[in-house]
Amino acid sequence: MNPKKDERGESPVSIIGAGVAGAWQALLFALAGHDVTLHERGDAAMTESTSHWAGGMLAPWCESETAEPVISRLGERALDLWRRELPDTPFNGSLVVAHSRDRSDFERFARLTSGYQRLDAAGLAALEPSLDGRFREALFFPAEGHVEPRRVLPKLHERIVAAGGSIRFNSDVRAEELDGIVIDCRGLSARDKEVELRGVKGEMILIETSEIRLSRPVRLLHPRWPLYVIPREDNLFMLGATSIEAEDTGVSVRSALELLGAAYSVHPAFAEARIIEFGSGLRPAYPDNLPRIVIRDRRIAVNGLYRHGFLVAPALAEMTLAYVERGQIDNEVMRCA
Ligand SMILES: Cc1cc2nc3c(=O)[nH]c(=O)nc-3n(C[C@H](O)[C@H](O)[C@H](O)COP(=O)(O)OP(=O)(O)OC[C@H]3O[C@@H](n4cnc5c(N)ncnc54)[C@H](O)[C@@H]3O)c2cc1C
Repeated sequence: MNPKKDERGESPVSIIGAGVAGAWQALLFALAGHDVTLHERGDAAMTESTSHWAGGMLAPWCESETAEPVISRLGERALDLWRRELPDTPFNGSLVVAHSRDRSDFERFARLTSGYQRLDAAGLAALEPSLDGRFREALFFPAEGHVEPRRVLPKLHERIVAAGGSIRFNSDVRAEELDGIVIDCRGLSARDKEVELRGVKGEMILIETSEIRLSRPVRLLHPRWPLYVIPREDNLFMLGATSIEAEDTGVSVRSALELLGAAYSVHPAFAEARIIEFGSGLRPAYPDNLPRIVIRDRRIAVNGLYRHGFLVAPALAEMTLAYVERGQIDNEVMRCA
């Protein structure tokens, strides 16, 4: 029995949805001594969640090219929480490159972001020998990290149980059925309550090759199809991701051609890689593409994580906990409905 639960005699906390948003909520509430149950309607493989398809980049400085400052604020705080709770999270930084003809895009990216070092070709080759001779320069963001969603979600789930929480898979629940505090992290399925949510399709391809080794994500800037290549374990690489205002799932021929073509232009050896998987997920987004914590008395919704779920989920969980325990409100992220 967790002594903190007895001391406080609090009501139970139910969290709906075990994607990255719900998993982090459950972990921080369980660590704080709350009586936590995490409900997930799918099974432990989590293939129904958007989180299953994500790149898992923890890149607040790169994302500041397009995202609002609040994403950097949440992201920078979240990096500390990833380090604290999952200390083996790789923080090898990330790289941004462009071909010479796209130099203006490269300089624009440099102008809009911070927290990087400029590398020449030799500096790039020293960091990533496989990219020797491929690009004349690069931006290196040393403090960024990345996780492998399909490995890190089970780790988060294990940590929740170790912290005294419980997880119920194959448990399709409605907030109205649950007592105590309910935190709704259903992603796009929460549209019955969060009516402004929309899905933004992201397509990805998983390929395998032993010809190339990378230690960190590489973003290739391009006016039409910006791409990233993220190294995974076992010689796998994730190519991602499109961003399409559509709610069908599946991968179009155009997207496949663009993602594979861009990978080939990062390194021709990718042409010989084996295609392992095509897939797509729908990113849950509010109209402003910013995350929200919506408070309706003891019902709290955490949603709209859009393209930053892995980046911001820990910081959102910390805020929800601070609200429940101390009534603390973050005006930028929270709405009291
Ligand atoms: C291709 C792609 C690449 C991406 N790359 C990155 C990246 O590099 N970095 C980054 O930070 N983000 C990235 N994202 C964004 C990130 O994946 C999302 O922001 C994040 O997964 C959203 O998480 P979530 O927990 O809100 O939703 P989900 O992961 O969808 O989780 C919601 C869960 O709720 C469950 N659920 C729904 N209804 C119920 C119910 N009634 N009862 C019980 N359970 C229920 C669902 O089964 C699901 O498992 C990417 C997304 C895509 C598609």
